Amino acid sequence: KTYRTKRGLGFTSTRAVRNVSFTLRPGRVSALVGESGSGKSTIARLLTGVERPSRGSVRFKGTRVDRLRRSALRRYRRHVQLVFQDPFSALNPTRTLAYALGRPLRNHLGMDGRQARARAAELLETVGLSPAEQYLDKLPSQLSGGQRQRVVIARALAPEPEVLIADEPISMLDVSIRAEILELLDTLVRDRGIAMLYITHDLLSARLLADEVMVLNQGSMVEHGPTLEVIGDAKDPYTRRLLAAIP
Ligand code: ATP
Ligand code: MG
Repeated sequence: KTYRTKRGLGFTSTRAVRNVSFTLRPGRVSALVGESGSGKSTIARLLTGVERPSRGSVRFKGTRVDRLRRSALRRYRRHVQLVFQDPFSALNPTRTLAYALGRPLRNHLGMDGRQARARAAELLETVGLSPAEQYLDKLPSQLSGGQRQRVVIARALAPEPEVLIADEPISMLDVSIRAEILELLDTLVRDRGIAMLYITHDLLSARLLADEVMVLNQGSMVEHGPTLEVIGDAKDPYTRRLLAAIP
């Protein structure tokens, strides 16, 4: 992906991602690791179809995502849900949790208000917000950061996606609850056979849940293999440096 941005009278271009090729599979967690600016979020945007590749392709079960028109793209997006790093800005502060979770259920699964509320309650229980009746009518501001991220995860699961992209889902959370949130994601995607892309700058956290690790260095994939192999026996010098930085 090359971004072109206006600068003075001309344009500058940034080649954010190149030489990247991978396949996500049901029930498998793939970690995408790289430092700031390495192109991780650009890859997430390419997968969701928000950005189109300047070269190359993005496929979902054989369909070229990068060629979908607006209405087909909207239908596709249901299948590829995102969890971002910031649970504060991800939720509308003026809407209750019942609304936040009910909306995708009504829009994507065609549920009516009652069905959506019942399903929203189930989803809250699934992410550990129990009993759900105590949470349904709360506003995001009435929750802790970790609880809010649980709601964001529940909302991502609501439309029953086949792919979940978690872009630094724990980096804004208190250190003490990070492992819990990763474990929750791990359990949920494996139970449901969802393909997950776990994006992080932290190779160590990838070890907790990823089956395979891909390392990005300045937009290029320099390492791609089973987690234990990458962590135990990295081939690429850049990956070795990342590993050496881990205390
Ligand atoms: P971080 O860990 O800080 O979130 P990242 O790995 O997600 O970083 P990206 O956001 O994908 O990195 O950015 C990769 C490169 O592409 C950077 O050099 C960035 O400045 C550039 N870039 C990203 N989005 C745009 C855009 N919309 N227009 C121009 N350049 C962009
Ligand atoms: Mg990013």
